[in-house]
Amino acid sequence: MNIVIFGPPGAGKGTQSKSIANKYNLYPLSTGELLRKEIKDNTKLGSEISLIINSGDLVSDDIVSNLIGKFISDDSYRNRIIFDGYPRNLNQAINLDNLLKKDNQKIDIVLKLSVSLEIIKKRILDRQSQENRADDSKEVAIKRFKNYENSIEPVINYYKSSNLLKVVNGERSINQISAEISGLIDSIKG
Ligand code: AMP
Repeated sequence: MNIVIFGPPGAGKGTQSKSIANKYNLYPLSTGELLRKEIKDNTKLGSEISLIINSGDLVSDDIVSNLIGKFISDDSYRNRIIFDGYPRNLNQAINLDNLLKKDNQKIDIVLKLSVSLEIIKKRILDRQSQENRADDSKEVAIKRFKNYENSIEPVINYYKSSNLLKVVNGERSINQISAEISGLIDSIKG
């Protein structure tokens, strides 16, 4: 199965995605992590995107599409990807469907983690002291939250209309959220 998980920055997408990946033998594919790796490895792409990411803006759709396309067409990840942080806008959602369709794959469930801005601010500041991400300052985090809200509505409607969307309250403990997500996945596995 292929899963999409999304939510505002600091919603716990990465944590939940890794935990589901472990439990169901899936591959957690985080576009944010792929992009940060390019910066860390000092690649040409990394130097092009570091300013964009550090200021809290979104990288271009083409760049991110190229990165995920490699995984979708690779047989070792076939039907076992959790997309964490992709899609971020409607264009990306349609692109993801097209890339999967070309490869006879599809999305089986979409998980939306809902968390308020107040809780996000606190979580991001906690994370900054642990992970030291350049885009986790309070100002940039608020900008990322706003960017998320501005572009995600059409994505939500898109997945609602295809009946794939499940909304999960992301304000509870990690274990409570994992338990709810597992229940949702088990119910579609049948
Ligand atoms: P994340 O780790 O998901 O919070 O992503 C960190 C940053 O990477 C975002 O603020 C964007 O600058 C960039 N990024 C990650 N995923 C995408 C995407 N699907 N489209 C555009 N930019 C992205």
